Amino acid sequence: MSEQGLIERIQDETDQIIELLRSLIERESPSHRKDLVDQVGAFIVEHLRANRFTPRVEPRKEVGDIIWAEWGKEAKGRVLVLCHIDTVWEPGSLARNPFRVEDGRIYGPGIFDMKSGVAATLKVQEYLARGWICPGKKVRFLYTTDEEVASLHSRAIIEEFARRSDLVLVLEPPLPGGGLKTFRKGVGRYVVKIHGKSAHSGLEPEKGINAVEELARQILDIHSLSAPEKGTNVTVNVARGGTAQNVIAEYAEAVVDLRFREIEEGERVDCTFRNLKPHVAGIRLEVEGGIDRPPMIKSRRSQELFQSAKHIAAELGIDLDEGESGGGSDGNITAALGVPTLDGLGITGDGAHAWHEHVEVAELAPRIALLARLIERL
Ligand SMILES: [Zn+2]
Repeated sequence: MSEQGLIERIQDETDQIIELLRSLIERESPSHRKDLVDQVGAFIVEHLRANRFTPRVEPRKEVGDIIWAEWGKEAKGRVLVLCHIDTVWEPGSLARNPFRVEDGRIYGPGIFDMKSGVAATLKVQEYLARGWICPGKKVRFLYTTDEEVASLHSRAIIEEFARRSDLVLVLEPPLPGGGLKTFRKGVGRYVVKIHGKSAHSGLEPEKGINAVEELARQILDIHSLSAPEKGTNVTVNVARGGTAQNVIAEYAEAVVDLRFREIEEGERVDCTFRNLKPHVAGIRLEVEGGIDRPPMIKSRRSQELFQSAKHIAAELGIDLDEGESGGGSDGNITAALGVPTLDGLGITGDGAHAWHEHVEVAELAPRIALLARLIERL
């Protein structure tokens, strides 16, 4: 099938693709709701079966079950196609932001990150089953369920599958305009727990140890760890503490987000968190967390892979760009193992983790065609 022919045949299915998206979006799936995420998993299992795949389910207790399936033989290589089916959206978000098509854009919770990417993989499975594309290699599809909460329950299987692959295609949202993400910052997360001592703030304040005061000082220290010129950002984005106006605060805590470009920078900040000292006498500090994902660094092989992808895209009439993302993904994990990784292959749109999250209807066919050809030719 010619390149234009492939795009046109996919375009003819636009209504079906939109219905497929509706099925995924109307099953809400926040990471922490195993019961709901498993409903999306069940939908994918059913779809795989209908397309002559043998779906495998890897049970998980605390998060949704992981789903995977494979196609073809290893003769000419092994490709891992990586998706997550959890979202950041609480149940009920759908009521405020219903699935809808407006002015050429499709809206709904998790559509850009990354249920439209998931839909693209489901379509590619149909095309494999129909013989529209013939990769002549082993293609594995892996659907994880906790990417939005640091992939603690899927990291091992992602690493295992990546090690058994020649390259990894990640269906995360692309950059604005559709560019791939060939560099991603590393990500860390910390919770600083501050233990003080309560006392009546009017009767005997001197007997208390104020955890909120310590929290205020720690926030300033933590923010000063940032080094924007090196691409390091450390921010306290959740702070809580205290119980009542007239009680010296016994407890407070801060949730910290770390983004870093250089491994040394990640280590510098991590080391500081391991050795935090209190300012207020009598305070006890406890630090949880650490570095979740290393930076996804450009390697010679990943650059070669991008150049090949750019060439394949050009034949489809797509001018494929690349760039950097401050957000981490499971692509960071596979790239850190040295397996060439292309990330940001999802459908072009905007607004990840925001209410205006959407994808472009006109981008559905070209991006699905691109994924199909990359699987076939890379
Ligand atoms: Zn994502």
